[in-house]
Amino acid sequence: MKLTNLKALATASALALTAAAPLQAETSLEYTNEIAPGVYSYSSGGGYHSMFMVTDGGVAVFETVNSAHGEKMIEAIRGITDQPIEYAMHSHNHWDHASGGGVFQAVGAETVAHDLAAQYLAAVPGQDTSTVDIVWDGNRHDIEIGGVTVQLHYLGLNHGLGMTVFVVPEKRVAYIGDLVTPNRVGFNIMPDFNIGEWERSLGQILELDFDVAVCSHTGLSAEEAPNGCTKAHVEEERQFIGDLRGAIFAEFQKGTPGEQVPAAVELPQYAEWVGYDDWLEMNAWRIMLDMGMGPYPWVPGASQ
Ligand SMILES: [Zn+2]
Repeated sequence: MKLTNLKALATASALALTAAAPLQAETSLEYTNEIAPGVYSYSSGGGYHSMFMVTDGGVAVFETVNSAHGEKMIEAIRGITDQPIEYAMHSHNHWDHASGGGVFQAVGAETVAHDLAAQYLAAVPGQDTSTVDIVWDGNRHDIEIGGVTVQLHYLGLNHGLGMTVFVVPEKRVAYIGDLVTPNRVGFNIMPDFNIGEWERSLGQILELDFDVAVCSHTGLSAEEAPNGCTKAHVEEERQFIGDLRGAIFAEFQKGTPGEQVPAAVELPQYAEWVGYDDWLEMNAWRIMLDMGMGPYPWVPGASQ
């Protein structure tokens, strides 16, 4: 195939993917649920979970996802309050999370992202991404809304670029994109995760000031999912990664040839987790490649 044809094909498939097709759809559950006073978990049913906080000084939205999700979330917010939506915050750079900012800007909100995510979105915008109005850098930024402080934590490299964990200590809540997914194995090939830095970041998340979080994806049941995730799920995520690495080591110790190791790995204690049958082998490939090639992705300043 000629290079130009390949390019056309690549463009066509990129269009198909970004046209509001979510990459992950483990829970087709549509809900709005108050998880703390004035703080709501929200999903439009596409397998992506957002959060919004209503205050006397306006509304803050966490994770815009895409325009269709955003428009439905605005409807849900309007069913609760007439307060203006002041902020629409992005957890990280990936298009499947950071799209849809425009529908919030259209109703007067400012989009917020860490500098590294904002640089990415400026350089390689997706079809449904928008400009970032408030760009912050460093490891910590606070935004106050209606007298309530939202902490924005950048924990260093872990997944994607500029990954921000949002914490509202006064409400004992957090928003966590992609780093913690309760009751589910890693997402297929664990794309754009630095595994060691991910584990390190999970340890840091355990130290943050919250009791309940909204995690952007969940393998929890329809009854449990609207209640978000907890630090127990953060611990389980870290345990899963360690157990998978341990199972890979064990296969090597048994003498299993390298190329057969990922298919041979079994972790029966996670057999009930979403994705176990489809994704565990891909997860194992990812961690095994990391062991052999060295950690990737990597950026200057990353410790591993
Ligand atoms: Zn991501």
